[in-house]
Amino acid sequence: MVRDPYLLDRNALNFSGGPGVLPARVLDELREAIRSAPGAGLSILGISHRSDWFAELLAQTEQDLRQLLGLPDDYAVLFLQGGASLQFTMIPMHLLRGRAQAAEYLRTGYWSAKSIPAARLEGRVRILWDGENEGFRRLPRADELEPSADAAYLHYVSNETVEGLQFHWVPGRDDVIRVCDMSSDFLSYPFDPTRFALIYAHAQKNLGPAGVTLVILRRELLEHPSAGLPEILDYRAHLKAHSLYNTPPVFAIYAVSRVLRWLIEEIGGLERMLSLNRGKAKRLYSVIDRYPELYLGWAAPQDRSLMNVVFRLPSPEREAEFLRQAERAGCSGLRGHRALGGIRASLYNAMTPGAVEQLAQFMEEFAAKG
Ligand SMILES: *Cc1c(COP(=O)(O)O)cnc(C)c1O
Repeated sequence: MVRDPYLLDRNALNFSGGPGVLPARVLDELREAIRSAPGAGLSILGISHRSDWFAELLAQTEQDLRQLLGLPDDYAVLFLQGGASLQFTMIPMHLLRGRAQAAEYLRTGYWSAKSIPAARLEGRVRILWDGENEGFRRLPRADELEPSADAAYLHYVSNETVEGLQFHWVPGRDDVIRVCDMSSDFLSYPFDPTRFALIYAHAQKNLGPAGVTLVILRRELLEHPSAGLPEILDYRAHLKAHSLYNTPPVFAIYAVSRVLRWLIEEIGGLERMLSLNRGKAKRLYSVIDRYPELYLGWAAPQDRSLMNVVFRLPSPEREAEFLRQAERAGCSGLRGHRALGGIRASLYNAMTPGAVEQLAQFMEEFAAKG
């Protein structure tokens, strides 16, 4: 197979916040699979989701995920659609509807704020901490939170993709259902999954293309179902159907399966992934810290995200100039989220240290030019 080196270089320097960069090896595999998926002899776009081939793919993908996380059998893995945003609704439908207790939410940035209105439709919500008064520039410290023992659940976002804020610890109580949106940092570091009752992450930041959302939940959560759930929004229906309740996004799931294989075979697991991610983020933050008058970091240093490095320049004109020159240097996707402006360099798993080095050097040269 002939690689197009220019295309791959451009892809390697895609710092987009999402959909994010994918490993070059996976792009090659996907290109091949569009013609003929290995073992199936058919285009991945035309393979039946009811085929043995796909059943095997789903089973292997789930097993790879379980292996990477060390996930015990009392957790179920679902491959759903509707993105992370649909989980903002499905979670309170299952865990808050008809309950007397309030659900507790950490309001730490753009995405956690987005998750709250859907919960209010289903029951009482208590905002345990709200970072808006401080402009969503930092996360709470443990001593600022007083999570209650009888909350319906506690919900938080592990990595605020827009502001570049990441929890480097696990908030909440271990005796309360802990729910976490890990859409933008899932599988970027090792963690103990048993501290969570429900984890969700769409694919398009760190795991693959848009179209599939992973939901990992403790099976016992489904023992007391809420009333009046439409079947398609009921986790039990998806579990019973082995994620084949209706036509699943076969291509997106295939891509996720290749990314998991890449994580296992090429990276060597989540410890090593974390060490690579730390190195990449450190390189970029060190440039920001060296030129504090030009690069105005957004997040408080203790809460800096390893995935999304967010900063501003002193004026919109300088930011526009930065983006123009970065684009000329081959770096794309650096414009900040429309809600915040500024610059955001997303360093998801598939972003190589070499690509980050290239961006860091560009930033140093841009600063040196004044
Ligand atoms: C991007 C993002 C979302 C939104 O995901 P959709 O799949 O577009 O609904 C939700 N949560 C987080 C943390 C995100 O980064």
